[in-house]
Amino acid sequence: MQLEHLLTDEQKAIRDMIRKFVTKEIMPIRREMEEDYSLVEGVLQKLLELGIGRHNGGDEKEGHKQDSNTTQAIVCEELAKGDAGISLCIPGISGGLVKTAERAGNKAIVDRFGPAFSGNRVSYGCISMTDAAGGADTENPLLQGRGISTKAHLDGDEWVINGTKSWPTHAGIASVYLTVCTTDPELGEDGIALIYVPPDAEGLSFGKPEVKMGFRTSINASIFYDNVRVPKEYRLAKPGVDAQFFAGMAGTGAQFHSATISLGTAQAAFDIAMDYTRERKSGGKPVREWSMAAGILADMAIRIEMTRGALYNLSSMLDHPEVYGPPSSPQMVSKASATKVFAADMAVWVANKAAELMGSNGISPEYHLEKYLRDAKINQLWLGGQQVSRYRVVRGYYDYIV
Ligand SMILES: Cc1cc2nc3c(=O)[nH]c(=O)nc-3n(C[C@H](O)[C@H](O)[C@H](O)COP(=O)(O)OP(=O)(O)OC[C@H]3O[C@@H](n4cnc5c(N)ncnc54)[C@H](O)[C@@H]3O)c2cc1C
Repeated sequence: MQLEHLLTDEQKAIRDMIRKFVTKEIMPIRREMEEDYSLVEGVLQKLLELGIGRHNGGDEKEGHKQDSNTTQAIVCEELAKGDAGISLCIPGISGGLVKTAERAGNKAIVDRFGPAFSGNRVSYGCISMTDAAGGADTENPLLQGRGISTKAHLDGDEWVINGTKSWPTHAGIASVYLTVCTTDPELGEDGIALIYVPPDAEGLSFGKPEVKMGFRTSINASIFYDNVRVPKEYRLAKPGVDAQFFAGMAGTGAQFHSATISLGTAQAAFDIAMDYTRERKSGGKPVREWSMAAGILADMAIRIEMTRGALYNLSSMLDHPEVYGPPSSPQMVSKASATKVFAADMAVWVANKAAELMGSNGISPEYHLEKYLRDAKINQLWLGGQQVSRYRVVRGYYDYIV
């Protein structure tokens, strides 16, 4: 249950709209979407038509006010109840990378890449971050940029990029690739450069889509940069400032988003287990009337409620940077990472327990649970994994949180 009195009427309306959308548009084709990406695109297109995922270019009348983190959490939690991959797509199709450039005051990037996200067709942004040489190193805050292996150097008026990225979402289908590079690993955070690359840049190529256990409705592939040249204006900002944006994006925004997906996944798994154990009889009474099963359901509910409290506490803090600081602050990075770690473990645990309560049917696609089980796991693996996320958590306490 959310804190109804804290939500605006618009947020409640969006939540109700997405709930209906999930029931009508996602659940009936949930399994088919995993095999046919055109169905995923159809769903994303319908969401766009509802105003979800529309880049409003600063004009709030054109789309829902998704710049509110709380609204984004509601949207992504609800969508994850239907499909985690669809939920994952939302910031990518919302022109989030263009908004980042707007915040950085980079007009060249906004002018070049903005139009792709202002029309009525779905376009994707890709955060090209994880280096093939050691993905977790790219994001390890203790390495402070020294673990990034994709290199960029200036040649006249152009950046020249070389390196290989593994697993970025929307690789091969995106309209823009925000590429995390280093100009010199020895410079640490001052070497971090966030460079926007168009899909048709010479020297840019892609691997085959990865085959994966969960999140099958989103596309991942390797990205190869072989002397890719882009205008020097396509660097987001400048030394030091790019590192701040990177922290806000990967350290806070993506962790927050991951937690919303975990929460939606866990809630849906719990709901299925509740229904199933009410209908399924054992020893002449519903399974959930046995105290062992009731205790498991209670533990699932406790974890979900604690996560929801932490997540919406975080979203509210992110909505008030004037009080809690910007998303790039070590405190917010720490809080977002703590929420992500807890939520990811929680969702895996809850989905696992739901399967136990359902016996063999827990792994049957007919009962829908098995997909939640598969999707839940991924949230523990990405964004540097749970270990590197923990470094972000503790770093905030070592140096900054009093
Ligand atoms: C569905 C999906 C979507 C993704 N989307 C994107 C995306 O949009 N953009 C993008 O750039 N990447 C994306 N990724 C990649 C993902 O972020 C990386 O896989 C992740 O960061 C881990 O990198 P790695 O797999 O190379 O792990 P490795 O670096 O090989 O690490 C292996 C293990 O060692 C642990 N480890 C590493 N270093 C340390 C340390 N110092 N201390 C303790 N433990 C450590 C890690 O936690 C991990 O468990 C995605 C991955 C998936 C599965």
